[in-house]
Amino acid sequence: MLTLGGCDTEPPPPPNSAEEVAYAGARARMVREQIVARGVRDTRVLQAMLRVPRHAFVPPGARSQAYEDWPLPIGYGQTISQPYIVAFMTEVLHAKPSDRVLEIGTGSGYQAAVLSLLVAEVFSIELVEPLARRAEADLKGQGYANAHVRAGDGYLGWPEAAPFDAIIVTCAPDHIPKALVDQLKMGGRMIIPVGAQWGPQELYLLRKGASGLEKQAVLAVRFVPMVTTGPP
Ligand code: SAH
Repeated sequence: MLTLGGCDTEPPPPPNSAEEVAYAGARARMVREQIVARGVRDTRVLQAMLRVPRHAFVPPGARSQAYEDWPLPIGYGQTISQPYIVAFMTEVLHAKPSDRVLEIGTGSGYQAAVLSLLVAEVFSIELVEPLARRAEADLKGQGYANAHVRAGDGYLGWPEAAPFDAIIVTCAPDHIPKALVDQLKMGGRMIIPVGAQWGPQELYLLRKGASGLEKQAVLAVRFVPMVTTGPP
């Protein structure tokens, strides 16, 4: 058993079929060649990436590509992010075991699963109702009991569960939504891609401090747009 960051993270259960053995091998290679090789070092994050079965969050026809170095379609014109991006965003968020974290853009539920191993509770909002329902069922079915999913508009955040220690946005708005800043605790962190729809975007790490919002650009990225459903 590895003791990581003050909490015990159990090693992944032994694979119980030839298929699971192959997936576990592909997952270990993904972590080594795509994530560690690009500089992610947080052992808790690496352990979570080793543990979550990404193949269980992609459509059956895409499973053979589940551990490859790219995003994959998940239906409804949406994608599951590239594994490295999930690991990078999770690492820069510096989430603690006691944190309550809000995610905007549940998609497949994979990022929520990774986070749920690292923090106390994950609240995740997805605009596309069938995606929300599917991710909720997949997360519950796989035992990620501390990950909660709601179908709704992420621009509004999740006021009943606020304030949050950290917020992770996995779709790209062209501005930082005010409700999300309001729902962040003082001292809290937000990682969010901001930029043009389908155009170049910058991933920002924000910190809410007494003198306002500190903003640091950390990576050039390309996410699906954060869709607006009404007035901001
Ligand atoms: N984190 C996901 C990948 C997200 S893809 C994963 O791990 O699989 C981005 C998702 O954001 C899409 O599913 C899209 O439907 C959703 N989205 C777009 N606009 C949104 C909004 N306003 N509120 C909530 N979700 C939104």
